Amino acid sequence: MIKQPTTSTARRFVDQVCLITGAVGGIGTAIAGRLAAEGAVVQVADRDADACARVVEDLVLAGGRAEVRAFDLTDPDACAAAVRDVVDEHGRLDVLVNNAGVNRRGALLDLAADDWAATFAVNVDALVHLCRAVLPTMINAGQGAIVNTASQWGLSPAPGHVAYNTSKAAVVAFTQNLARDYAPAGVRVNAVCPGEVWTPMLEANLARSGRTKADLDALVPYGRVGLPEEIAALVAFLASDEAPYLCGAAVEITGAQAVA
Ligand code: NAD
Repeated sequence: MIKQPTTSTARRFVDQVCLITGAVGGIGTAIAGRLAAEGAVVQVADRDADACARVVEDLVLAGGRAEVRAFDLTDPDACAAAVRDVVDEHGRLDVLVNNAGVNRRGALLDLAADDWAATFAVNVDALVHLCRAVLPTMINAGQGAIVNTASQWGLSPAPGHVAYNTSKAAVVAFTQNLARDYAPAGVRVNAVCPGEVWTPMLEANLARSGRTKADLDALVPYGRVGLPEEIAALVAFLASDEAPYLCGAAVEITGAQAVA
């Protein structure tokens, strides 16, 4: 029988300050919801302030605590300033979830002039800027968790997505490097590598391709594509004190789907 995820009543992040990028998107909203439900003070980071405010409103209505952190991840100064503001206001930053991502499709000869740089600016460089900004605070605290959203395609590339796949492979390598360098300081860095997840982005792509959700579900041995809440549950586990020995892992979450 194909199961749907159950709701957790865990409270692993009470009073912890957690910054989530791409928190307005399909997976990011679920991560924000999960951490807020577990007691975190969620920093809803995304490009558009109004969209961030709507997510914050929903989280607060559900009984959580959340604040707007609107900035453009491609601006290194804005990344540093956002982290500085959070630390100034709260005196701590416990968890960073680098979840935002963009997907410019195409094989190498099909890419537009700026596709490579635009992909790396969000999917890789922003992680560098944010991690450089948060690490001193986490090192001072002697603890902290960073979770990066990579992709299954960063481990096994799907055809026709060279910029995206290579950027996500870089996320995995960056995660492993950071984990090795900062585990001695008590900072844990891990990555999640989802297969296809049922988000508005996937729904829009599907509509363009003329396929149905049932077509996609049939490609997954478990019988359906992933749900944002399932990725959020894994992110929360990796970021929590339940996973103290998980450092430098790139955890696949795919329903056993192989890349076609
Ligand atoms: P999404 O498009 O719904 O969300 C991405 C969010 O990132 C958006 O809210 C967008 O505004 C934000 N963002 C993009 N560029 C930004 C910038 N310059 N500054 C600030 N914010 C910016 O995508 P999603 O499906 O929720 O994906 C979330 C993450 O999961 C991404 O890293 C994606 O690569 C990864 N992923 C998704 C799937 C999937 O099937 N949906 C599968 C594997 C991995």
